[in-house]
Amino acid sequence: MKKSRFEMAFLAVIKYGFCGGTICLKYLTVTAKHAAASLKLSTEKYRHRFISSLDLEEIKCQVELSNTYHLHIRPGDEVVYEMGGLHKFMNWNKPILTDSGGFQVFSLAKMRKIKEEGVTFQSHIDGARIFMGPEESMRIQSNLASTIAMAFDECVENPSPKDYVSMSADRTARWLVRCRDEMKKLNALDRTINKNQLLFGINQGGCYEDIRIRHMKEIAKLDLDGYAIGGLAVGESHEEMYRIIEAVEPYAPDNKPRYLMGVGTPENIIEAVYRGVDFFDCVITSRNARHGYLFTAKGRVHIMNEKYKTDPLPIDPDCGCPACRNYSRSYIRHLMKAGEMLGMRLCVLHNLYFYNDMMEKIRGAIEENRFDKFREEALETYSRRL
Ligand SMILES: [Zn+2]
Repeated sequence: MKKSRFEMAFLAVIKYGFCGGTICLKYLTVTAKHAAASLKLSTEKYRHRFISSLDLEEIKCQVELSNTYHLHIRPGDEVVYEMGGLHKFMNWNKPILTDSGGFQVFSLAKMRKIKEEGVTFQSHIDGARIFMGPEESMRIQSNLASTIAMAFDECVENPSPKDYVSMSADRTARWLVRCRDEMKKLNALDRTINKNQLLFGINQGGCYEDIRIRHMKEIAKLDLDGYAIGGLAVGESHEEMYRIIEAVEPYAPDNKPRYLMGVGTPENIIEAVYRGVDFFDCVITSRNARHGYLFTAKGRVHIMNEKYKTDPLPIDPDCGCPACRNYSRSYIRHLMKAGEMLGMRLCVLHNLYFYNDMMEKIRGAIEENRFDKFREEALETYSRRL
C-alpha cells in the first residue's frame, strides 16, 4: 500500500490556513487511499436544510464544500467578499472547498453555449444572461475566499461520442492553464482575502481510458495543489467507474491529493480509497436521509418501515451522533411520517456523522496497516439491509 497522500494534503491545507466561516451547502468526505478526512457540500437542490456550521463541528466534519454557481447568483460573490469571505460569512474556521461552478452551469442552466472563451448561459433563477469562463470562475472563488478552488472544466454527458470527449478534454486542459494563471494574479492582489488559495485541476475524458490518461499526463505537468477525477458517477456502472479510476490514478502526481468528485455510497468510497483516492464529496448522505434511508455500521435502515413504529432503540445503538444519542427510531419515524423538518434534520445529521466516522475508521485501518481486512468486512456489512 502506498503511503498516505491524504495526510499530506490535509497538512498542506492546515499549513496554508484560512480565515474562518462557510455556508453549509453540501458535505464533502475527505479520505485517502491512505488516510481520511471528511468534507461535504450541497447544491441548491440538495442543500442540507437546517444544518449549521456548529452542527458540522459536532458531527466531526473536516472540510466543507460550497457551490460557486449558487453563491454567485445568490447572494452574489461580491456580498460574500464584503462580509470577509465564506469562512466569516458562515462562521466555519476549517477548510472550505469551492467547486468551479462548471457542474451547475452544465446541469442546471438553460440555453448554454460553449466557446473557447467560456460558457454563456441563463440563470436558472431569473433567466439573466451570464458568462462564465476560467477567469470568471477564479475571480468568483477568490471573492468567496475558499481554502481550495476547483478549476473550471466542462462536464461532458456520459456516454458521449469519443471525438467530442477528446476535443472537450483538450479544451478543459487549456482552460486549466488559464485558471492557474488567473489564480496567480489574484493571489498577488492586495484586495484578495485568501492569498494562499489552493487550486485543484480536474481530470476529464469520459469513460475512454486513453483520453483520461492523456489528459491527466497533460495537467500533471502544471504541478497544481491537488488533482480531481471528474465526470464519473454520471450514469456509468460501478465497475466502469472503478476501471477508469484504476487506469488514470497512477498518472496523477504521486505527492498530490486525489479527489473523486460526486462519489458515492460507502462501498464506492471504500473501493475508491482502495484504488488510491483521498477525498470525496457526495449528496447521497443528505438525499437518502431526506427519504429516511439511513446508513449504519451494521447495514442500511429504512426508518419508515412499520417494524420501527414502537422501537425504543436509536437508529444505531453504537452511533455517537446527536440523533442516536437522544432519540428513538420510533420518534424519528413519527417525525418523518408527519413530514416534520426535524425528522429530516436528525436523519441528515446521522448520515453525515456515519460518513465522517467511516472516514475515521478508514484512516485508522490505513495507519494500522489493516485496510484490506477493513475493506472486506465493511463491504459485506455496510450493504446489508436491516
Ligand atoms: Zn446516529
